Amino acid sequence: MAQYDYDLITIGAGSGGVRASRLASSYGARVAIVEESRVGGTCVIRGCVPKKLLVYGSHFAEDFEDAAGFGWTVGETSFDWAKLIEAKNTELNRLEGIYQRILRDNGVTILEGRGRLVDAHSVEVAGRIYTAERILIAVGGWPNLPQIPGIEHAITSNEALDLPSLPKRIVIVGGGYIAVEFAGIFNSLGSQVTQVVRGDTILRGFDQDARSTLAEEMMKKGVNILSETTVRSIEKCPDGSYSLRLGGEEEITADLVMYATGRAPKTAGLGLEEVGVKMTAAGAVIVDEESRTSVESIFAVGDVTDRVNLTPVAINEGRCFAETFYNNNPMRMDYAYIPSAVFSQPPLASVGLTEAAARKQCEAVEIYLSRFKPMRNTLSGRDERTMMKLVVDKPSNRVVGVHMVGPDAAEIMQGFAVALKCGATKKQFDSTVGIHPSAAEEFVTMRDPVPDPCPECEE
Ligand code: NDP
Repeated sequence: MAQYDYDLITIGAGSGGVRASRLASSYGARVAIVEESRVGGTCVIRGCVPKKLLVYGSHFAEDFEDAAGFGWTVGETSFDWAKLIEAKNTELNRLEGIYQRILRDNGVTILEGRGRLVDAHSVEVAGRIYTAERILIAVGGWPNLPQIPGIEHAITSNEALDLPSLPKRIVIVGGGYIAVEFAGIFNSLGSQVTQVVRGDTILRGFDQDARSTLAEEMMKKGVNILSETTVRSIEKCPDGSYSLRLGGEEEITADLVMYATGRAPKTAGLGLEEVGVKMTAAGAVIVDEESRTSVESIFAVGDVTDRVNLTPVAINEGRCFAETFYNNNPMRMDYAYIPSAVFSQPPLASVGLTEAAARKQCEAVEIYLSRFKPMRNTLSGRDERTMMKLVVDKPSNRVVGVHMVGPDAAEIMQGFAVALKCGATKKQFDSTVGIHPSAAEEFVTMRDPVPDPCPECEE
């Protein structure tokens, strides 16, 4: 008789939990995964995937306009939000089915319900207690809203992905990934978008040139970015609209208010504290390099640990956990040079150090910066410019940061992330032949650094 019901119980069937569970099971472990909502988690059900489908859907508005410059006469166009949402939901159902099949095909048992830790080896799900040698917490995060008067009127990205209709006027509060991406979606689809940002501009933490370029391009497209602005309260008006009182005495009115002010680990009520799992003040599970918590048999991966909150990071953490404990192949997640992209319009992508960070960390830096009109816009006439930037550690000649705002930035950045992980130098960039004509070739043809010190480098 085995000592436990399972070798591993994972709580949360999102990106990290599913990867860890199916790998562990494929290596012969007896695995169960607990999920209270839909298999797929944030990324598949209410994050990356549906968001990107809406980004694609909304971009057609510009594409139809641009076509005219290439000789096309596009007839009258119209957009049906309900149709896009229905198509998106059909795709999510398909993906959820694939995730469930992957788990079942790998022999993972899916336990439906909310999981709660009972002790270091036991989890309660829907009134039953299951035991396991190890427990993996992979419950992710949830939108975090500031407690201001009237906040109950605000929606989050969860609801934004399933609105019954498009708002005429929307206020989006926040300057991070989610706010910027949804500002682009709603703006392209014809809503009047006001984005309220408490900082000096959007996307704190990204390179200053990339931030200001994107903010400028978004404003050119019609997004009204109110920086250094806070919302004091939200009030529902008799006509169904909302009135927002801002930091000063100004007021703005909108038909919908969306908050994208960060996400918090979804650890409440999980029983973590009771069994002795240490957490940060913000509720994130504290783990070591092996993703082990303060309790020997309990591990955690993904957003719940608040390390780097990105799907591919959660997947890699899950993989390292499974390889280490179920395949006798110890692996540590490498957090160096993690690329990321914001699917804004235009998109922004980067890997490595910002100029400001490099100036702090490196003895001397060289900056290469290029701004140009992408070839497509010569005929389309679209007034949108691309920005590309390289940050080079001068003593070693290594490229330590790559930043881009412009079409296909995410697609382009992936390959440069490989180069940076391999320690590529500027000389090696220079000796690489470009692909012509492309925007990406600019990264290997930038010859002259901007005069040092760069006046725009302060963050
Ligand atoms: P972020 O942490 O990226 O941004 C939060 C934003 O809200 C910041 O601009 C922050 O301002 C602002 N903010 C926080 N608190 C308040 C407040 N009380 N009042 C006003 N503004 C406030 O969070 P998101 O919600 O955009 O995204 C959550 C996570 O999801 C991110 O960490 C990201 O990793 C992930 N994600 C990744 C995507 C991708 O890879 N493409 C897409 C979407 C999400 P300040 O900067 O001043 O703190």
